[in-house]
Amino acid sequence: MQGPLADPAAEKMTEMSWLILYSGSSLVAITIISNKEAPMTLIHRSCPTCEASCGLILDVDESSKQILSIKGDPDDHRSKGYVCAKSQAFHYVYDDPERLRRPVKKVNGAWQEIEWEQALAEIAEKLSAIRNNHGKDAIAMYYGNPNGHNFSTMVYTQLFTQMLNTERFFSAGAVDQQPKNLSSELLYGNAWVFPIPDIQRSDFFVCMGGNPLVSQGSLMSAPNAEQQLSDIRERGGKVVVIDPRRTETADIADQHIFIKPGTDAYFLFAWANILFAENKIKLGRLTDIVDGLATVKALAEQFTPENTAAITGVSAAQLHTLAEDFANARAPVIYGRIGLCTQEFGTIASWLVDVINLLNGRLDEPGGAMFPQAATELPPPPTPVVNELGRDRFKTRVRNFPEYMGMMPASFMAEELAYDGDNKARALITVAGNPVLSVPNGEAIREAAEKLELIVALDFYINETTSLADYILPSTSQLEHSNYDFLFQTTAVRNFARYSPTVFEPEAGALHQYEIMTELVARINGMQAADLHAMMAEGLAGQIVSSARFAHLTAEQINSTCDAHSGPDKLLDMMLRAGPHGDQFTDGEGLNLNKVKAAEHGLDLGPLEPRLPDILQTKDKRLNIAPPLIIDDVSRLQKAAATANDGLRLIGRRHIRDMNSWLHNINQYVRGKNRCTLLVNPEDANRLGLKDGGNARVKGAGREATVEVSVSDSIMPGVVSLPHGFGHRYNDTGQSTAKEKLPGVSCNDLIDWTVLDEPSGTSVVNGAKIEVSAA
Ligand code: SF4
Repeated sequence: MQGPLADPAAEKMTEMSWLILYSGSSLVAITIISNKEAPMTLIHRSCPTCEASCGLILDVDESSKQILSIKGDPDDHRSKGYVCAKSQAFHYVYDDPERLRRPVKKVNGAWQEIEWEQALAEIAEKLSAIRNNHGKDAIAMYYGNPNGHNFSTMVYTQLFTQMLNTERFFSAGAVDQQPKNLSSELLYGNAWVFPIPDIQRSDFFVCMGGNPLVSQGSLMSAPNAEQQLSDIRERGGKVVVIDPRRTETADIADQHIFIKPGTDAYFLFAWANILFAENKIKLGRLTDIVDGLATVKALAEQFTPENTAAITGVSAAQLHTLAEDFANARAPVIYGRIGLCTQEFGTIASWLVDVINLLNGRLDEPGGAMFPQAATELPPPPTPVVNELGRDRFKTRVRNFPEYMGMMPASFMAEELAYDGDNKARALITVAGNPVLSVPNGEAIREAAEKLELIVALDFYINETTSLADYILPSTSQLEHSNYDFLFQTTAVRNFARYSPTVFEPEAGALHQYEIMTELVARINGMQAADLHAMMAEGLAGQIVSSARFAHLTAEQINSTCDAHSGPDKLLDMMLRAGPHGDQFTDGEGLNLNKVKAAEHGLDLGPLEPRLPDILQTKDKRLNIAPPLIIDDVSRLQKAAATANDGLRLIGRRHIRDMNSWLHNINQYVRGKNRCTLLVNPEDANRLGLKDGGNARVKGAGREATVEVSVSDSIMPGVVSLPHGFGHRYNDTGQSTAKEKLPGVSCNDLIDWTVLDEPSGTSVVNGAKIEVSAA
């Protein structure tokens, strides 16, 4: 398929056309073809837009700073040439004329461009004054998830958050991920250790609350998930999807089972019930390290397949068959993701996914749920680390709700910003985030933020949140900085290492996000940024030599060995050299940054390997599968059974061209049919008088919105679905395409923000009660 570029903003590319290439039903490349003769440079890098981190080849004209084409890299061992439609996103963002390039300050309600020196000096002075006069918690912070796609930001975030040290810290993780963090922390002693489905060796894949065909796997980074799932079937295996919607993944699966939203914990407990009742528990080589089996058995006995069927909508016979097929498969694995994390019993459901794998002997086994090993993983310190649970060290001001991971629930951000008692919030810093759209009660976040004394946004868009700021500090875009796939090494279905070079040098004076954070920390503390960079390197070197493996070296030796690099690259070089594949700071074999940089297609570091019990950071290195915090929450689950599926329930969904709200200012990604529609089952549509293409009035949390209806039997009766990331309805933003072409409705404005997954404090956006009527 091909045609002319239709983006009027991209005037400089008018002599180009685009070509979309398909292989079977898979998109393999979108190429922008220049009709001009132009000097080309091929740059290999990974795509930073989603977890899959697919390998790309960029044809660039460096002199004019134009991307001539972006294609999948066929030699990337992970993605093998696959790309999705979003592969062009960072190019479009780079070119977007509405992306900020220089700091702006709001003066008399209007934005004025100012110099970096003025911006940093004024902000540092104002933040210092607020902190000195009112204490550290007077400065609130919101941290968005684009940061997870940026190595240098991630490693310097610790510096920034330690400097702020605020209890009013909010993040996107408390909207969609913390139940998984908490279950991992309780089971393995580390909130950032996730068992990932080893789908490349599995022969029976059960997917709950995920849609890998669209996401390419979340906490299961799997480029070209469609191919990887097809491979399971080619091997004679089976794919089963359990979801309130027949998703794109369900469409290619062997079996799809509808389940009522928010009831996954009942379903999984009933599955455990079958395993205990039929004596099918297989702990295998983990038998000697597992505690708590009797407690789990006693709880599971209360959830039979028969008494949970009416709650979940899954019959006892269906569950028995599934449990039996799973138990009889050679290498089965169950995977649960975002739909399970965003529900009222998200921690229990996330924990039970690991429990079901464990009880079937599938935890830490090839083809089961395994723990990736990052090339940057540091050696253990001389004495084993025993992590204390990072929860309930302080509480929210308004509801006295316990923090988790040093953060307050994101759903409570509005009321915590609005709180008017002692020690109230006076300033807000946002780092690459848009909580007004991404967090429940976003409308109230805007109202509360407007009353603050100071808002500083580290962002390059004037979005629904940053439009309220006094200053916006735009970092370089992804094409203007290097990257290393840091976080996604720990979520990939195969171990790998990949460095992505800078494509275009940023314009003079532009700052990377880690540099902005470092400058602010330095100025607030009366230091020089260079001193902070040196401290970061010295601190990491000191940590490395504290391990037995490097006790023969000094921190100075490690530091000087990596002197060829600076800033984040120096830290990366240290981590790679000290890591499991590292050169151990010698000139011998093993990885260092130069070798990883030279591997332009990325490095394959082999299949996932068994890692238990070595990676446990729990007391006595035991795996207690009955952590009290989760066990205590089961009574809440039992009480909720009576009302688990009364009324209509709302779920989210994601389109292949969406990534939260990030890409909605890109014309190429918002054109076409409206996709912010309310998906309604024909039965419900008839009952409510709704018509396909007509409008519905949706009411929830005391608010209402009008939204276009899509009638489809892909959604189960009693459930409606709205995608997230929309609601571009405020006039003060600087994203005209999003506002004009696809404003949509924010589902986060319509859900009851007071309901949480209580152990983790995570928002409940899946299974929320909603009222729908014809508009
Ligand atoms: S699947 Fe993700 S990483 Fe791969 S091309 Fe698409 S957006 Fe990029």
